[in-house]
Amino acid sequence: MTPKETLWDIAIIGGGPAGMIAAGRAAELGAKVILIEKNATLGNKLLISGGGRCNVLNAEFDTRKLLERFKGDGKYLFSTFSQFGVRDSLEFFHAHGMETKIENENRVFPVSDKSQSVLDVLISYMKKGAVTVMLDSPVSEIITIDDKSDSIDNKEKKITGIKLKGGKIINTKSVIIATGGTSHPETGSTGDAYAWLKKIGHAIVTPTPSLVPISVKDSWVKKLSGITLPDVKVKVLLDGVKQDIAASRFTKKGKILFTHVGLSGPMILNMSKEIGELLRYGDVTLLLDLLPKYDHANLNLKLQNIFKENDKKKFKNSLGELLPASMAQAVVELSGIDPEIICNAISREERLNLISLLKTIIVHVDKLLGADKAIISSGGVALDEVDFKTMRSRLFSNLYLVGDILNIDRPSGGFSLQICWTTGYVAGTHSAK
Ligand SMILES: Cc1cc2nc3c(=O)[nH]c(=O)nc-3n(C[C@H](O)[C@H](O)[C@H](O)COP(=O)(O)OP(=O)(O)OC[C@H]3O[C@@H](n4cnc5c(N)ncnc54)[C@H](O)[C@@H]3O)c2cc1C
Repeated sequence: MTPKETLWDIAIIGGGPAGMIAAGRAAELGAKVILIEKNATLGNKLLISGGGRCNVLNAEFDTRKLLERFKGDGKYLFSTFSQFGVRDSLEFFHAHGMETKIENENRVFPVSDKSQSVLDVLISYMKKGAVTVMLDSPVSEIITIDDKSDSIDNKEKKITGIKLKGGKIINTKSVIIATGGTSHPETGSTGDAYAWLKKIGHAIVTPTPSLVPISVKDSWVKKLSGITLPDVKVKVLLDGVKQDIAASRFTKKGKILFTHVGLSGPMILNMSKEIGELLRYGDVTLLLDLLPKYDHANLNLKLQNIFKENDKKKFKNSLGELLPASMAQAVVELSGIDPEIICNAISREERLNLISLLKTIIVHVDKLLGADKAIISSGGVALDEVDFKTMRSRLFSNLYLVGDILNIDRPSGGFSLQICWTTGYVAGTHSAK
């Protein structure tokens, strides 16, 4: 290093939410911080989060309950969340002038309904601490102490610098890697750091798309693109519907969204990992109960009433009270009942078949969509190799790992960004010490 070259206290790779909050926090504590981002702008994935509205976190303030949502991985996160939890994150945004609102399932959004408000907070936090931001600067590798002959006597494994594409070296005392996972790679999250980390000895669980919509074989589903049903029960079957109940793998209830290729919406996204696993073993079929609030007997009564009240109407115009128009039309077509028949001519057998259809409409899964459509990737840095009290690598004493890069299982609903706030803030704090 020549005398003119800057030695940074902390270099952060990745200008997403985890990197930005880490940078702001470390700078707030007095560290000389540089944030290196390969894109021309910061927070590209953050801006598309929550459909551009950004579900910034989930207002579950009971840490134990919150961590249950991360399944087995929650056990790693107690000490991290005890330092900067959900309430701290919410207060952080409020203290920086961003008002929030809580929607269904505790999902918190900025009152502006714009992800830009979240990005503005993070940028102003970094500005306050005088973080130097380098844009258009892809990192090509990290340099470990073994690469430096003058430091060979130091037994501790350390990172000494970062090499940018083009050859420029950034010298730094500590490095925070916040390069994200592999979902929506067009935002910049192309999983670059996994190769660097593997090279220096970290175990990486191969990333695969997670929280991802599914594509289906049934054309009627695709015709309903854009329709949302707020309350549907989905039963997942492996290897066909003809098998007995033992073939049923799991059941969930919630909102589904029809797309031009299949199904999406929070419940489907949250089921996608398990569906992906089942697809490795055979055909996966979904049985949709379109009207879970009625059992068979109640639905029978309800339909009898509907057909009685609409006795002069055609069958095709009779189901509007139960379902949105295009869903009702699809059910009419699938029912095999003459759409033109008037309601009082519908037979008992036809009515009972219609009930079966409404309670167990069959959808054949084709595949999960790819990383370009996934919210997150599952996989990443093995959690045993990270000290969650500090977010420091257990292999390199001056390397910190934050955000989507970690192999943390999580549902949709603000939990991914919460991981960014918590791990980023904690890494910023400890790297600055
Ligand atoms: C469509 C969509 C909607 C989502 N909605 C929500 C939501 O509402 N709520 C929620 O909690 N989560 C949501 N998520 C997930 C959330 O966006 C991510 O969890 C979060 O962005 C991860 O932040 P990160 O900082 O770890 O990584 P990223 O946001 O992926 O940022 C990583 C940054 O590193 C940069 N980078 C990568 N490689 C290099 C390199 N070699 N050199 C320099 N820079 C590099 C990238 O360009 C990128 O800017 C959504 C994701 C998607 C795709």
